[in-house]
Amino acid sequence: MRPHPGVRAALLVLLALAAGTWQSSRAASRELAVAGARIRVDFEPAAFAGEGVAVLEWVGRSADIVRGYYGRFPASSLTVRIVAESGDGVQGGTTFAHPAAFIRIRLGREVSGRQLQSDWVLVHEMTHLALPDTGEAHAWLSEGLATYVEGIARVQAGNRSETDVWAEELHMMPRGLPQADDRGLDHTHSWGRTYWGGAMFCLLADVQIHEHTGNRAGLQEALRAVLAQSGGLSSDWPIERVLRTADAATGTTVLEELYARFGDTAVTPDLMGLWKSLGVTPSGSSVALDEGAPLAAVRRAIMRPR
Ligand SMILES: [Zn+2]
Repeated sequence: MRPHPGVRAALLVLLALAAGTWQSSRAASRELAVAGARIRVDFEPAAFAGEGVAVLEWVGRSADIVRGYYGRFPASSLTVRIVAESGDGVQGGTTFAHPAAFIRIRLGREVSGRQLQSDWVLVHEMTHLALPDTGEAHAWLSEGLATYVEGIARVQAGNRSETDVWAEELHMMPRGLPQADDRGLDHTHSWGRTYWGGAMFCLLADVQIHEHTGNRAGLQEALRAVLAQSGGLSSDWPIERVLRTADAATGTTVLEELYARFGDTAVTPDLMGLWKSLGVTPSGSSVALDEGAPLAAVRRAIMRPR
């Protein structure tokens, strides 16, 4: 049955009133200040429990986690547009730099406080703001960094346990290893290679920088320097400039050397061996940490808040 348009409009109003959703169609803007950055949140407060107070707290908390990792929030101003969807959970996000920093994120109307508290999506998206745009061929670098940094930034902020992060890496990172037809990170754009292959590159880099500097610096210091010198995602930088800048900050050539190996060829590092030397071993569905392992000090340095 197709009602007459006028009847249909009246029906929609009645249905909206009956469902208590009439007010929820009213979008609002709220402004948060996080360590010098202005974050505008566009959303429908009434679409969420408690008029969206927990939603605003989630945005502020996520921004603070990213600020902690980078030493400052990676954009001076940002708009976060929250699109209310049916169901629960944080359902996905996309980050843009032009004409201004903008994150669009889909959030279930039934999202629970617990889901917001343990969310990774918004931290991942905000992390994208800290790296210059290096082009589509190098999406593995931006997605790998966002995947890798999210866990560590949340551990450093006390928002996630260290064992949870390592357990996820043990479970997921092998999907980032090359398959039979692989031609290196720059030329193999599968989901596994982009997200977890990129994260694997970051883990190897982080460990090697710590080893080369006696734990005085890691990937975190390298990424802070890249953000400070580039201004983040609004800049277009060749990948070589990103890696050169990052290496200069730690006085090493770790990233440039890793890229020379991983960019154009399929390399399969011994991940289980690496985790074992860091003191991370499988234990049931999680992991156990061995403080006597040869690289246990590197592992602790990676997770230590700066
Ligand atoms: Zn991403």
